[in-house]
Amino acid sequence: MKRRDFVKGAALAAGAVALTACGQNEEQAAAPKEAAPTAPAAPAISKQMRELKMVTTWPKGFPGLGTGAQRLADSITAMTDGRITVKLFGGGELVPALESFDAVSNGTADMYHGADYYWQGKSKAFNFFTAVPFGLTANEMDAWLYYGGGQELWDELSAGFNVKPFAAGNTGVQMGGWFNKEMNTVEDYKGLKMRMPGLGGEVLRQIGGQSITLPGGEIFPSLQSGAIDATEWVGPWNDLAMGFYKVTKYYYYPGFHEPGSTLSCGMNSKVWESLNSDDKAVVQFACAAENNRMFGEFNAKNGDSLDTLVNEHGVQLRRQSDDILKAIGDASGDVMSAVAASDPLTQKIYDNFLGFRKKAMDWTSLSETAYTAARALDYKYGS
Ligand code: CA
Repeated sequence: MKRRDFVKGAALAAGAVALTACGQNEEQAAAPKEAAPTAPAAPAISKQMRELKMVTTWPKGFPGLGTGAQRLADSITAMTDGRITVKLFGGGELVPALESFDAVSNGTADMYHGADYYWQGKSKAFNFFTAVPFGLTANEMDAWLYYGGGQELWDELSAGFNVKPFAAGNTGVQMGGWFNKEMNTVEDYKGLKMRMPGLGGEVLRQIGGQSITLPGGEIFPSLQSGAIDATEWVGPWNDLAMGFYKVTKYYYYPGFHEPGSTLSCGMNSKVWESLNSDDKAVVQFACAAENNRMFGEFNAKNGDSLDTLVNEHGVQLRRQSDDILKAIGDASGDVMSAVAASDPLTQKIYDNFLGFRKKAMDWTSLSETAYTAARALDYKYGS
């Protein structure tokens, strides 16, 4: 298969999991794996120049996520002035997308860019470091990770797998999704077949829906044929590209399931420890810069794409009713309590997260929420 075809195919195959990871398709399964080095992560070419392999859970160049990973790789390369070159591999190029974490853990690759909730099969606690239902917004995630004890807990969790993690991107609040009918009461969720993977899917099941997991390329035809009644994806920018507006016009908000999905960069612990203090600072601040920059890009592109969806394609925006959101909130609370009970470290992270969430809610409601409500009032401004 030609490289160009692969990238196209991989982009369409994206999304076996909650965000947009490229799922393991046949091409990826068949792709030759590079032999694992005998020494863990042996990246050194010379003392002055080394190449670090970055694997990703995205197709190369995938808008927002793949492009952000490339920007991070290029930033580290530029800021280290030739000491480090980060070579990026799209999902399936060096290892299958969802084996990125294992590849970094065992030293086949030096670092990954992905979303840590993809590793929830290893520990449910990884969900907290991407997004959980009715969890934290992007701003609140930054506050928790940088100043609320979140990073220390993430370090503790990932150290068990030989990985040093960093926040390295954010999609912002995702949309609730595309529905083939209006959703007026929680009863409308009974029997609803919705593409909604991960913890969001568990919440959907709690309120009577059916959670369907589909690769990205199968979502559009499934929605068109009626095999599914609804789907979530990301937000206007990525959703416009998927063409869901051609099948249904009901576009609901907000997305309770991914209120501010944090993307992550994980580095093999031995590689991290081998860096001098200059290069450690470069990696740390390049990740922090990308964490912020990707969020800005998603917000800018979502605004443009929302305008196109509504004004060119006649998409009908609908807010989920308070009654529906409360039922979803109750179900989310149940799901998160069950997640917490998985093991002692997950419980410890949940307890810290819950305490932080309470304080964040108090401050956010009288800062961002109060201000944006005030700004939306009817008054004369700039017209
Ligand atoms: Ca999503």
